[in-house]
Amino acid sequence: MTAVGVAARGAVPRRATRSWWMEEALAHPAFADPPAPALDHATTADVVILGGGYTGLWSAWFLTERQPGLDVVLLEQDVCGGGPSGRNAGFVNGFWFELTELERLYGPTLALRIARMGDESVAAVGAWCDAHDVDAWFARNGDVGVATSPAQEARARELVETAERLGVPEVHRPLTEEQVRDRAMSPWFRTGVWSPGGAGLHPARLARGLRRALIERGVRIFEQTPVRRFGGWGPVLAETPHGSVRAGRAIVALGAWGRHWDAFRRSLMVRGTYMVMTEPAPERLAEIGWTGGEGLYDLRTALHYLRTTPDGRIAFGGAGLRVTSSRRVDVRFRYDGRSVRELVRDLHDWFPPFRDLPIACAWGGPIDVSARHLPFFGTLPGGSAHYALGFTGNGVAPCHLAGRILSGLALDVVDDVTTLPIVGERPKRFPRRAIFAPGQRLVTHAVLRKDDREDRGRSAGPLTGALAHLPRRLGYNLGP
Ligand SMILES: Cc1cc2nc3c(=O)[nH]c(=O)nc-3n(C[C@H](O)[C@H](O)[C@H](O)COP(=O)(O)OP(=O)(O)OC[C@H]3O[C@@H](n4cnc5c(N)ncnc54)[C@H](O)[C@@H]3O)c2cc1C
Repeated sequence: MTAVGVAARGAVPRRATRSWWMEEALAHPAFADPPAPALDHATTADVVILGGGYTGLWSAWFLTERQPGLDVVLLEQDVCGGGPSGRNAGFVNGFWFELTELERLYGPTLALRIARMGDESVAAVGAWCDAHDVDAWFARNGDVGVATSPAQEARARELVETAERLGVPEVHRPLTEEQVRDRAMSPWFRTGVWSPGGAGLHPARLARGLRRALIERGVRIFEQTPVRRFGGWGPVLAETPHGSVRAGRAIVALGAWGRHWDAFRRSLMVRGTYMVMTEPAPERLAEIGWTGGEGLYDLRTALHYLRTTPDGRIAFGGAGLRVTSSRRVDVRFRYDGRSVRELVRDLHDWFPPFRDLPIACAWGGPIDVSARHLPFFGTLPGGSAHYALGFTGNGVAPCHLAGRILSGLALDVVDDVTTLPIVGERPKRFPRRAIFAPGQRLVTHAVLRKDDREDRGRSAGPLTGALAHLPRRLGYNLGP
């Protein structure tokens, strides 16, 4: 059945096994290593890592860089990269999009220091892939932000103005409508912003490449091994269904699943985000002039993000704000038929030449949203367990920095990354659930309505506008 048939009948595309990326990687001889065993005994280690996404994998990498021979055990409930780290869109960015908030929190000098460290991570991820022969399609082709309404044009200008004011005009440059169309054509595109420092990669190949490098280094990885109980005082104890790990230190790298822990419940909110992948059509990409490999995104609050693949597909993603009231990270975050159908509709609206092209599959994943739109790093009471959470949909490069930070904290190292002001700060908390859940529903509805009305060239209206802006008024770096 073609995508046109799928869309017309209201059926939804095939649900990917984890993601198109993971299916592609596991079918490729260079990335199809056999599964790691599940833990079936009690063991000890110097450091135990909870979670096999990028944060856990990079932490293991830097622990063994900093101290070769360190005994590290990593526990993953699925396969490494089975969560967002193997499902994401592969945009690789540091913190240049967070300059305004960084400046507000830390002042211009520290804001720039943090943003430059994020930039170092972008380059370092690419260099690591080269050095370890991991063909993760890393390419620094930059990102184009496209405005699809006048309100979004104002947001694009804000990015440019902040960068200019802080003396880094090169990180976000304005694009005229014509310059946007030189990079990609759509009836929706207006003016935009060009961010040349952004890179793109194949997310699952990176996760699989890291996993292989760690196994070769002697890191003991156990997959299909959920941590059911955790004791974090003194020597830590991670208990799994058929085993346990006692260790001197722990690294908590659980992404959105961190929300299940009391310690992080009020610091994280979980949102679903979804993607569809087309079949290859390089000739249609040429028709719309999108051949430079740039990442594209719009400036809605519930934004669209999209990129191409070397064989000529479009991966089209969107922040689905709908399933936000869930208390648990459950199956709805892996796939949501309504969100996926809307994505197919938006893809076809944006790029009419893609209307009769089949959609290969669709998937989703949970986002660990923090109140400041920035990750937070620290140590749990007891001093033995260190965490990095709250990447808020921008984790590919920041998780590399997280690995540097967490490995340093676990080894009591004081250096340029462990002393960053984003380390050790108490994260801003969300309101209690009784207030938060109904308020969140109202605000979410208003944000979606505002985005949609603005896209149709209409104003949001006073009530919708006020509700959509409420999180900002209450000091949260979320919403318009
Ligand atoms: C669809 C989608 C698109 C995205 N696009 C981008 C993008 O283009 N660019 C970008 O920078 N970011 C993007 N992100 C966000 C990015 O993927 C994440 O920020 C990043 O992968 C977080 O890595 P992590 O290791 O901290 O967490 P995760 O990747 O979530 O890893 C946590 C791991 O912990 C495991 N786990 C959970 N509970 C347990 C337990 N009890 N025991 C053992 N293991 C457990 C999970 O299975 C998971 O593998 C996207 C996310 C999604 C879902």
